[in-house]
Amino acid sequence: MDHKSGSAKTSSSKLLDSLLKPAPVNARVKPAKNRVEHKTENRAEPKAPPASPSLSAKKPLRYLATRSLLLACGLATLGNVPVYSMISSTEDGKLIHLTEPLLDSASPAQVVKDLNLPAVAVESFSGYAIDILPDATQGNWSAHTVETDDTLESILGRLELTKTSQKLLENTTIKQALGNLKADARLFTQVVDDSLQQLIYAKNKTDVYIVSVTDDGYVGKWETGALETRNAKIAFTVKHSIQKDGKTAGLSNSVIRQLSQVFQKDVDFKKGVKVGHKVGVIFEDFRYQGESIYTDKVLAAEYDTGKKSYQRVRFTLAEGRTDYFRPDGDTELKRAAFDRKPLADGRMSSGFGMRRHPVFGLRKNHAGTDFAAPRGTPIYATADGSVKSIGRQGGYGNVIELSHINGITTLYGHMSAFKDDLKSGQKVKRGDVIGYVGSTGTSTGNHVHYEFRVSGEPQNPMAVELPQVGIMTAEEMQTFKSIATAMVRDLTDLRKLASADQADRQQNGG
Ligand SMILES: [Zn+2]
Repeated sequence: MDHKSGSAKTSSSKLLDSLLKPAPVNARVKPAKNRVEHKTENRAEPKAPPASPSLSAKKPLRYLATRSLLLACGLATLGNVPVYSMISSTEDGKLIHLTEPLLDSASPAQVVKDLNLPAVAVESFSGYAIDILPDATQGNWSAHTVETDDTLESILGRLELTKTSQKLLENTTIKQALGNLKADARLFTQVVDDSLQQLIYAKNKTDVYIVSVTDDGYVGKWETGALETRNAKIAFTVKHSIQKDGKTAGLSNSVIRQLSQVFQKDVDFKKGVKVGHKVGVIFEDFRYQGESIYTDKVLAAEYDTGKKSYQRVRFTLAEGRTDYFRPDGDTELKRAAFDRKPLADGRMSSGFGMRRHPVFGLRKNHAGTDFAAPRGTPIYATADGSVKSIGRQGGYGNVIELSHINGITTLYGHMSAFKDDLKSGQKVKRGDVIGYVGSTGTSTGNHVHYEFRVSGEPQNPMAVELPQVGIMTAEEMQTFKSIATAMVRDLTDLRKLASADQADRQQNGG
């Protein structure tokens, strides 16, 4: 309970008023120990220095009030006696009635009148706090997808709730459920005033473990069907802006933000959005206690300008990259077959073309591009291919040459070491480590010398036109097509529904 705002600056008469005014209909019900805390805070009140000189004049009033309250509480605790009292303040000649029983003897719990009763608590606390789950609409929800190495501590640690995770794991029941998190499971956390209010661990769509805070600490239990996960669909027509109309239609800020990403290649969201454009979106929606607690990824979306319609479907490639693809977009399902450079990082230290040779001092054509990086930095194959040659070769030092499609070869020089067991003729995939940066051969420092040759002729690796290859394997293409077909069908249904709804409203003059 938060009484900080009340204790220091509230004048004694204000305190009295709030203590003596009739209890709200939905007075908060709490177990006995909370009432004791309450009493302790009131007892400490007279010790606080008066906020203004006028207060000291009212001291008898405060004294009386505090003592009466303490007496009432004392009596209540001792004998379950309903307490009625009347206090007369001679100073302002007003009668103040203290007519509310401080204790309902029929109930084992006691009524406590809160000074700062949170609006939401009025709705949610109507009996034993322990049996009532905290409201789903309070505070902030966040969602986490459990990674392979994640633990409850690591996830809550990111929310600066490390102490809370320790407290949770001290509870043996909770530890049994959350001690080992399943990879790819979802974890939702509700944080109110910097403290964890509820935690939902969705092991799969049906097995859900819910932890909530009660006056006795955290309690947890498995609940089937507590969390509803679904693909929500919303369509709207632009009347003011994507932001405003999307919000009115019920989209979260996160989903609206994602839309500009989804259509980044199709629509200029800063200048290209016009009144009358139509948007349809399918997204992941997680519902708890009937409330949407988290809207996650956009799964598919449609943008219709009236003249042209764009559709995008979310898909994750085997290599791990996720993108929004056009369901029919064959051309866009291709990409360059080569990476431009063989290092993850690395500074280009010398470009392709004529230059003064750093060792010999002669003007000489540089057949490749140099990237400086610390010794031992991994060197990656820039495309799928096979090892044409591997070994020591004069000025190149330790060098590997790879063969690729279209008569293209790439060469990587000055390596400190080759990748273990890499042999001539062996197949490599784009992004495989083939060796490590060094300074073997004719070299002035740690770098990789990278060449790109077409039919044996060196080309500028940074500028050469790269061949295109399909982005998906045949298998991926099949998976994507089946997802895309279902999403396009849903987007079409959504569009029909939205236009029928609009026609309906126009007919009814809405
Ligand atoms: Zn070089």
